[in-house]
Amino acid sequence: MEPESSLIKSVTETKVEQECPACGHRPLESIMAVLEIPMLGEGLETTLKCPVCGFKRADIILTEQSEPVRYTLEVESEEDVDTRVVRSTSGTIRIPELGITIEPGPASESFVSNIEGILMRVRDVLQGLEYEDEEMVRKRIDRIDEARKGSVRFTVILEDPYGNSAILSEKAKIEGLSQEEAKKLRKGEMEMEPG
Ligand SMILES: [Zn+2]
Repeated sequence: MEPESSLIKSVTETKVEQECPACGHRPLESIMAVLEIPMLGEGLETTLKCPVCGFKRADIILTEQSEPVRYTLEVESEEDVDTRVVRSTSGTIRIPELGITIEPGPASESFVSNIEGILMRVRDVLQGLEYEDEEMVRKRIDRIDEARKGSVRFTVILEDPYGNSAILSEKAKIEGLSQEEAKKLRKGEMEMEPG
């Protein structure tokens, strides 16, 4: 997902002499966007794009944070669902009440989105699984739809060992992670615990 244009301060596009990992084409297009993020200050989003096959890799670095961090937000209203989240490729997002875990991995992307946007991503993944256990999947999609409307309370936990992710809300609790906790953060792909 592209960051909202309202956050972008400047964009620089160049070409880099690097081979596309998917099709071998070179050069790749490099897009560097300086973001002005409310409450956090500056961020840098770098995107590498292949003009031939569409391969794309993006990441976000926050210039003012670097320590392992955990954000916790209790979502209690529709307004909370609109809270913005910055997730770099090193960020782990958990929503225990909905059985959602999004972990760093080869297929994980960085994004600036709101909580509804995160729920929509998970919803899309679930829809792709519909053939597996239709009833279970439908139940979980219904639950996510209720959560999107703010009619179900849930907790969003965001952890990042490099401090490059954040929940942008005065309500969010911010804690430092110990080295031990930071080390435990796993690499993997989007996972679904049994609902
Ligand atoms: Zn390519």
